[in-house]
Amino acid sequence: MTRIPRKSNWTILKFGGSSVSEAAHWQTIAHVVQQQKSTGFRPILVLSALKNVSNLLEALLHQSISGVHPIAIEHLKEMHQGLISHLKLPVDILLPQFKNLENICNEIHQSQQITPKNHAAVVSFGELFSTTIGLHFLNRQQISTDWVDARKILLSIQQADSWHHYTSAYCDFEYSPQLRSQLEQLNKVIITQGFIASDIDGNTVLLGREGSDTSAAYFGAKLNAAEVQIWTDVPGVFSANPKEISQAKQLPNLTYQQAHTMAQLGAKVLHPRALEPAMSNTIPIQVKCTHLPQNEGTRISVIDTTEVIDTTEAAKDSAQIIAITAEPQITWIRLPQTQKMDIDLLIEKVTAAGFDLILKSQKNKTCHLIFIYTNSDQAQLTDEALQQYLSIDNIKIKSALSLVSLINISNQGAWANKIVQFTQQFLPNGLLEALDFSSQGHLSLIVSNPNQLCQQLHFHLIENQLDNTFFGVNWKDLQN
Ligand code: ASP
Ligand code: MG
Repeated sequence: MTRIPRKSNWTILKFGGSSVSEAAHWQTIAHVVQQQKSTGFRPILVLSALKNVSNLLEALLHQSISGVHPIAIEHLKEMHQGLISHLKLPVDILLPQFKNLENICNEIHQSQQITPKNHAAVVSFGELFSTTIGLHFLNRQQISTDWVDARKILLSIQQADSWHHYTSAYCDFEYSPQLRSQLEQLNKVIITQGFIASDIDGNTVLLGREGSDTSAAYFGAKLNAAEVQIWTDVPGVFSANPKEISQAKQLPNLTYQQAHTMAQLGAKVLHPRALEPAMSNTIPIQVKCTHLPQNEGTRISVIDTTEVIDTTEAAKDSAQIIAITAEPQITWIRLPQTQKMDIDLLIEKVTAAGFDLILKSQKNKTCHLIFIYTNSDQAQLTDEALQQYLSIDNIKIKSALSLVSLINISNQGAWANKIVQFTQQFLPNGLLEALDFSSQGHLSLIVSNPNQLCQQLHFHLIENQLDNTFFGVNWKDLQN
């Protein structure tokens, strides 16, 4: 084990798809980089693909099978060309990469096969394109910048099933003094790709959709960076999805654990896998917004907000709900644990069919497993087909449900029961199961339709709260 020294002066600046798509935002990006440099930090930019490009590349795989890929590639070229001309960069900077993409798509057309390996190769181009544009832009702004291929640095861990191996990779994130001195020698700002890595055989792999945050955290951990900044289209983490609930409140401080629970249970602002590398090396994560750069956003660190909680008898039953998250498309598997069964093996089988586990509860002699489907290359198995594939007696499977979770930080008392009662009144027949994880800081409700419920819970439990210790500004007020 390498001894980890004091924090280095590296800062990791991750910019998401909406940040890198607009020419005007590039001025902000250049400004943030300059600011970091002038305060003695060495920035590494980790970029996502332009907005929607990863979706278009996933679609391109299917278009390559049917042979219409040349038109789709043309459309992708035009999208990127639009940004390139706004930034007044040379028109041909992406041509070699587009040539490579075309070759891979032609091969897919010839073989008539989408494999996890060619899926990863095709979808990785989004980040290769955006970082090439960024490299040229920053150098033209007199910010001396080097392009580093993330696949030379992030090495994935072998996984048994090939879909997850290529498209949902985990990487090693141990502190690396060698990497640190190698990058220090470059003596420039570094620009690299989010979302992509390579396996031990040198194949391109992906870190899972929205995985650029995780790339930033991996770089942060490997360099023992001073901070990881996640620049996105909302100023931090909110008490609910601000795009759906305009009264959502900013959460200025979260612990790694709270942020992880929220991300795992559906808060879209941060990728759940980004928390562990940062937490295990105590690297703070600051979530900020590219079009509101002055706003401090959310700081995720070891600071424990529960320390300020009122622990008197009177406060015991009252929940301190800080956020409500929703995961809109879950598959719920329920099995009675009367017979002995290897749950891990069951999870492995469901995972191999293209699902990801987000929650597991083993209480009251019943096991509840909550999955989401992530395989974009194949249609999801029907509940009946999944049941047949697993062939286990007494198993119940139901998809197209939602999981609504309340993130609580008081960890005690009967608050969970009260919320279950409220939900039952509000949604007669609509609450299918309540999974009580109050000792771990959340209550998760399986419901058939979450829309009104999230609004109502947010109104009663968060908007009406008098204690504002945990909350910052309202999303709505930020819009004015
Ligand atoms: N471009 C990838 C995606 O859209 C990764 C990311 O943006 O985080 O999923
Ligand atoms: Mg994101």
